[in-house]
Amino acid sequence: MRPSLLDPLFAALTTLPGVGPKLEKLYRRLLGRGDTPARVADLLFHLPAGTVDRRARPKLAEVVPGSVATVAVTVDKHRPSPPNRPRAPYRIETHDDTGTLTLTYFNARKDYLETLLPPGELRYVSGTTALYDGMLQMVHPDRVVSEADLDKLPLVEPVYPLTEGLSLNQVRRAMDGALTKIPALPEWQDNAWAERSGFSSFADALKTLHRPNEPADVQPDGPAWLRLAYDELLAGQLALALVRAHQRSLPGRGSSGEGILRAKVIAALPYALTPSQGLAVDDIVTDLARPQRMLRLLQGDVGSGKTVVALLAAATVAEAGRQAALMAPTEILARPPLATIAPLAEKAGIRAAILTGRERGKDRNETLERLALGEIDLIVGTHALFQEDVAFHDLALAIIDEQHRFGVHQRLALARKGESVDMLVLTATPIPRTLVLTYFGDMEISELREKPAGRQPIDTRTIALNRLNEVVEAVGRALNEGQRAYWVCPLVEESEISDLAAAEQRFAELKTHFGARVDLVHGKMKGADKDRAMARFSSGETQLLVATTVIEVGVDVPAATVMVIEHAERFGLAQLHQLRGRIGRGTGRSTCLLLYKAPLGETAKARLAIMRDTEDGFRIAEEDLRLRGEGDLLGTKQSGVPGFRVARIEVHGKMLTAARDDAALILSRDPDLASPRGEALRDLLYLFERDEAVRLLRAG
Ligand code: ADP
Ligand code: MG
Repeated sequence: MRPSLLDPLFAALTTLPGVGPKLEKLYRRLLGRGDTPARVADLLFHLPAGTVDRRARPKLAEVVPGSVATVAVTVDKHRPSPPNRPRAPYRIETHDDTGTLTLTYFNARKDYLETLLPPGELRYVSGTTALYDGMLQMVHPDRVVSEADLDKLPLVEPVYPLTEGLSLNQVRRAMDGALTKIPALPEWQDNAWAERSGFSSFADALKTLHRPNEPADVQPDGPAWLRLAYDELLAGQLALALVRAHQRSLPGRGSSGEGILRAKVIAALPYALTPSQGLAVDDIVTDLARPQRMLRLLQGDVGSGKTVVALLAAATVAEAGRQAALMAPTEILARPPLATIAPLAEKAGIRAAILTGRERGKDRNETLERLALGEIDLIVGTHALFQEDVAFHDLALAIIDEQHRFGVHQRLALARKGESVDMLVLTATPIPRTLVLTYFGDMEISELREKPAGRQPIDTRTIALNRLNEVVEAVGRALNEGQRAYWVCPLVEESEISDLAAAEQRFAELKTHFGARVDLVHGKMKGADKDRAMARFSSGETQLLVATTVIEVGVDVPAATVMVIEHAERFGLAQLHQLRGRIGRGTGRSTCLLLYKAPLGETAKARLAIMRDTEDGFRIAEEDLRLRGEGDLLGTKQSGVPGFRVARIEVHGKMLTAARDDAALILSRDPDLASPRGEALRDLLYLFERDEAVRLLRAG
């Protein structure tokens, strides 16, 4: 259980003044909580994107129009909007001994302004200045105070990322409340290291960031942010190290054999393994034969052929009379691997089956029974695999496809279904080596570097959206030649509903051009409907498939040769790469059209240029990381890599190695986190919600 000391931080956000249930919904969106209630800690970890610096105190004659300034002015005259033009602005004239300034308000309340700015009085007014008709003015000053309240005027104010419906002042006010909830926490960082790094305490770091004295206080590479980022990285590395230690502490069981089943699978392949597939299989076979647990990451670009490697791993444990499970994050992603596996498995005499949320009733019961009796060697499925009533005869190998969508605890949940379960994680999103450490800790890594033979290069082009008509014509020509095309609709917001609306609208439009040849597939469709739509497209019954990003991974229609991505600039590079990987799978030449909304910023231009220049997923991933360092915040959320709350890999990634070494040192001295510092580190784990690792401590 979480220490009660931390309760105030995990209290509902509605416990803060000014946050009612209605606003709380907006905070959920802002803080990325989805449908779960936002908590005080979530808000505290919402760090400023910058500051407003009100320290400049020029005379009116010295004001640089366009800058933020705090000026001391005497109020002269109110000029309310004329009664016949209530939409006209309300103006207030002011002056100092060097010049004049007009304060402009829209939709103003007269009585409010008269109290705020009484004629004849001195007021300190702070806001963004502008020149209008040659006159200095300020539209809606941010702050107006009297001489007596001058010390209450915050000279440097944090600016937060917002969401529609929430104002900066509301967030600031809620944050003030949140800051008062931070309990006195014992220090979990090594004191000497903290001192050397210029770190203040956790609470002080948060206060510095939310109540900055200088703009530099909120810099991601400033000491306050560094401290919190290091806390988060350490929590992550500690959790991974604990999981790893736990897994090592459990004995493994060697699964080996003569490789007869593997040989049968290989004989059934219509192609030869690539060299890196061969190496990966060797690595895995060696791991499986060892009495220690295997924890291996198989990284391979889209279409690099991870599934067959997974099948060969499963063949190895099947030959030892044991079972393997392959888990994909969603139903739609669970089917393609099975489609690859089923015919090969059948030829080799490996009994494969599927279990997802969609299998119900008699079929499901039968599968469960056969699984429990050991009559299934390899089960492919989704989360449904770790439901309580799923029992294996002897699960030896858990293969997790697209691991970045799963948390560590899900990995563990599957591992608990067997005794000494070896773990193979497949990731289709190429992750730069620096990041592997972050998400997977010290896993062994196998990489599939080459694409399988026979793949054609993809011709990628970028086209401005205002040339949509030409694109539609080009797609029409391709369809008339019998080609098949995907048309991916943009991420409008983070909400599936608005994505869907955009996709439906595009679908309707394209239908007017191409009629029944067009189909639509999206995430809100029922599984069976989705499958049917995919099957129609796969068979060629339909030729143009309008889709939301549900087709991102896993879909395999080798005949598809055209990919149109609308608003490509809104996607992360990794995601674009995944999407593009849906074509170029067959023998036909493929074309990818990246439609963007002009004008593009420099970073966006560079990102699309990379997509045009290379198909190497590893290079794209590295470049993505580099460019994100140049301020593309959107990329983080959309790339599909799990986000940190305060750490930014491009800024703080350098500290990862230190955090990993630190975690190792901590556990070597205090494996149960039982010392006083160990206790404090448990708080840290809870604070960053690495609870699953703490549970291991208790269990172990
Ligand atoms: P991913 O790594 O994206 O999961 P898959 O395992 O789905 O890739 O493989 C993509 C396609 O490539 C499949 O149709 C598979 O049969 C084929 N494939 C796999 N390995 C090879 C190979 N060595 N040579 C030719 N085709 C291969
Ligand atoms: Mg795959």
